[in-house]
Amino acid sequence: MWNRTRSTLKWSGTVLTVLLLVVWIGSIWSMCTVRPPQSRVSLEVYGGILGIKIEERDIYRRDHWHWSGLHRQPATLRWGFSTVYWPLSGMPSYQLIEIPLWFLALLTAAPAVWLWDRDRRRKPGLCRKCGYDLRGNASGVCPECGNASPSRLPT
Ligand SMILES: [Zn+2]
Repeated sequence: MWNRTRSTLKWSGTVLTVLLLVVWIGSIWSMCTVRPPQSRVSLEVYGGILGIKIEERDIYRRDHWHWSGLHRQPATLRWGFSTVYWPLSGMPSYQLIEIPLWFLALLTAAPAVWLWDRDRRRKPGLCRKCGYDLRGNASGVCPECGNASPSRLPT
């Protein structure tokens, strides 16, 4: 069970990291906004940043998901965190929390890298797929996960 979970974590961490890096690179030249239904909170991606925008009043509230589409922007890349309170005359004010996308990629990469490294260093005599102890097992098939090529048995 734990082996299944670990493998899922490893792969989803890897895929998420790659996705975040692609979004990060793409956000240098383009921006977009997504807003869940019935929400005052929207997520914006621009210039290396994930912005969480929280409006004070809900005049933009809608019944459905809103997706702005991709818009081109002049190339910008910012690296740091920030929070901004944005009062605009005639517009609802909002709080903007900016999280750099590289930081999110690092958060998903760290556990994935750790799990990959752990699996790579697995000792001989253990199943390469699930880590089950195969010393004394002559069948060549792991009884735990069914992996057919466990070998690397110590002689
Ligand atoms: Zn196994």
